Amino acid sequence: MGMKDIITIDGPSGAGKSTVSKLLAQRLGYSYLDTGALYRAVAWKVKKEGIDPDNEEKLKEALSIIKITLESGKVIVNGVDVSSDIRTGEIGEMSSKVSAKPVVREYLYAIQREIGLKGRVVVEGRDIGTVIFPESENKFFFDASPEERGKRRHKELSVKNSDTSIKDTIEDLKKRDTRDSTRDSAPLKRANDMIYIDTTNIGIDGVVEKIISELKRD
Ligand code: C5P
Repeated sequence: MGMKDIITIDGPSGAGKSTVSKLLAQRLGYSYLDTGALYRAVAWKVKKEGIDPDNEEKLKEALSIIKITLESGKVIVNGVDVSSDIRTGEIGEMSSKVSAKPVVREYLYAIQREIGLKGRVVVEGRDIGTVIFPESENKFFFDASPEERGKRRHKELSVKNSDTSIKDTIEDLKKRDTRDSTRDSAPLKRANDMIYIDTTNIGIDGVVEKIISELKRD
């Protein structure tokens, strides 16, 4: 199996991973795996069941009954299409909490490996190049200034009529990034074998071009 056809993109929230991954996948004729959506799906279930994310027994119970499927860009949890409901600030916050729990990461590890190993795929998240597909030969790490990331996230949320200010959005985002980068279990980390791209001042197309020019191919 060629490890050049699994492209990994890691980085903090609002660095542009999703937008670029989707476009890149389209350009290459690859599929696209948004692993954050899986953590958000678990968070949605945890919230719906009213479970305390620090209660490991309850978390395990929830994981034993949850069924997450990704169908043509939609996220389905036990038959319910949650694609839109998982894109709120509240679920973002809850997903960052549940994602720090090893039981949740172990549960999602298998799902991610199964989808990614089909190959010809762009996978984006926080630990893709370090933990999920460390054997990939095309790894990227995105970052952007907190202000730019906050602006992007705010724009996304305001489409959903959120009335949070840019300032609060930036604060929430920083809090989430700190939690994601300092947790014990698979923290967000830039590794030496990742190509670093600062997306603050480059447009989406520019980032896609840069990646395509850097790709190792067979
Ligand atoms: O990328 P997105 O904002 O949808 O991710 C939601 C949360 O899921 C992140 O803040 C992070 O805590 C968690 N996550 C993770 N590992 C990944 C992808 C997402 O821990 N590979």
